[in-house]
Amino acid sequence: MYQSSGKDKLVLIAPCGMNCSLCIAYQFREKDLNKKGFHRTYCPGCIPRGKNCTHMADSCELLAKGLVRFCYECDSYPCKRLKALDKRYQTKYHMSMIENLDFIKGNDAEKFLEKQEDKWKCPDCGGLICCHNGLCLDCNLDIFLKNKKYRWNED
Ligand code: SF4
Ligand code: SF4
Ligand SMILES: [Zn+2]
Repeated sequence: MYQSSGKDKLVLIAPCGMNCSLCIAYQFREKDLNKKGFHRTYCPGCIPRGKNCTHMADSCELLAKGLVRFCYECDSYPCKRLKALDKRYQTKYHMSMIENLDFIKGNDAEKFLEKQEDKWKCPDCGGLICCHNGLCLDCNLDIFLKNKKYRWNED
């Protein structure tokens, strides 16, 4: 199987600080889970798809035009919209875009991904847990098949 190198994976960090490899739209595409009876939109990640995800691109000209690689390069960082997105993600999905961006700014993106692999590692298979539901979509797919709205055991 093709193993992507650390450098390849850097494209999976979106400008807003989202780690696309934790995203349900990315993981569904990677695992082709619509074959199992789901009907979800697939996404190859913000940078690979060539346009920013709807998280921020519609509301930010700099991101829509690809003028910054990461939001922290912007004079308005962290802007009101990024703060609102961050708050939603902290509350619902146990992660913070702003914390991610601050870490990347203070360290580097490869180090960030190493840390993420540790933080989001499935204890059973070593794969990445999906931030949108808190499940490993290999080991815990049965939970998600029973409840397609499952989210972090909170609903
Ligand atoms: S939907 Fe957005 S966050 Fe998810 S993989 Fe695509 S670009 Fe990344
Ligand atoms: S921080 Fe700057 S680049 Fe990022 S969404 Fe806000 S205005 Fe756009
Ligand atoms: Zn697993």
